[in-house]
Order: sequence, then C-alpha cells, then structure tokens
Amino acid sequence: MRTITEKGLVFDEKITPEQIASYVQAVADRINADYAGREPLCVVVLTGAFMYAADLFRRLQMHTDVTYIRLKSYEGLNSTGRVECVVPLQKPVLGRDVIVIEDIVDSGATIHEFKRMLAEEGARSVAVTSFLYKPTKLLFEDARPDYPALEIGDEFVVGYGLDYQGYLRNLDAVYTLRK
Ligand code: 5GP
Ligand code: MG
Repeated sequence: MRTITEKGLVFDEKITPEQIASYVQAVADRINADYAGREPLCVVVLTGAFMYAADLFRRLQMHTDVTYIRLKSYEGLNSTGRVECVVPLQKPVLGRDVIVIEDIVDSGATIHEFKRMLAEEGARSVAVTSFLYKPTKLLFEDARPDYPALEIGDEFVVGYGLDYQGYLRNLDAVYTLRK
C-alpha cells in the first residue's frame, strides 16, 4: 500500500488506478444505457471533478457535449456550508438533459444549490454522477447522486482530482487521511 505525507498529514492509498478505471466504466455503462438516443449536456463541477470527468466523458457513447461551472464549499478539511459560484455556467442549459459530473458528494450542499440553479435556468432534466459519495454525511436528500461510482465512509480523501489545500490532486489513486 502506498503512503503520502503532506504538511504533517499522512494519507494511505485507498482506491487504486485499476479500481478507479473499473468503477468509472460501470458508471459509463449505466449512463450509456439510460441516455441512448438522447443528447445530454455534461456539466463538470470544477475543480476536483476534472479528472473523473475526463475519464467518464471519453467512455460515453451518445451525442454529448461538455461544459463547466466552478462552485466552492470547502476550506481545507471541512465544508463551510456556504456554496459560492466562482465561475458561472458556460453554456445555456435551457431544455437540456443535464448530467452533472461531481468529484464527491459530502453534505450535498453543493449539489443541492446547483440543482436549484439548473432548474431556475430551465434544464429539462438533471442527473448527478459523483465519483465518490459519503452517504452517512448527506444532509440534502435531493443531492443523493443518481450515478455514484463508489460510496465511502466519513473520511477525508485526496488524489484523482481531489485536493488538500491545492495539493495532491495529481495523485493517480485516491488516498485517505490516516486518523
Ligand atoms: P458538499 O457540498 O457535498 O458538502 O461538498 C462537496 C465538495 O466538498 C466536493 O465537491 C469537494 O470539492 C469537497 N469535499 C467533500 N469531501 C471531500 C473530501 O473528502 N476530500 C476533498 N479533497 N474534498 C472534499
Ligand atoms: Mg467538487
């Protein structure tokens, strides 16, 4: 098992690159089946989801396009509970079937707020895929991901796009903070 130390914190490898690839393929299979013949618009929630989005998007087989939004709710190790829109939606979602691509759903505050925005902007439907999902921490029922790649416990993870204070996003595996 690989281990990384950053700023005095120790992180242990939890999900290997091979496991990640198979979880991503399983989500792609489900989305390909559910959206066959439709033209969904994927919206990546930056920054953390960019790596999952790139891996998932290339496995999608219907006509589809991708765009971005940047929302922020975490400072360091904890969710602030406030959701800030740092970079607004880059393409119109009016009448579109939107697939939100998220890195991780924790309290669900981010997705709860984003779904409200998408409804206001006239999206026809909204589904959420999240690479990771912490069911025991969910506070907003409507933020439960439709397509979670993997459920984890109440823990802090980094790597595969997820950061600790701007570091460790470039790890090819998911690592968990040692308690
Ligand atoms: P929520 O709004 O669901 O509470 O939090 C969602 C956002 O918080 C995620 O998109 C992610 O950016 C950040 N986040 C939540 N849990 C973790 C975690 O374990 N590790 C990291 N690096 N970010 C997290
Ligand atoms: Mg995120």
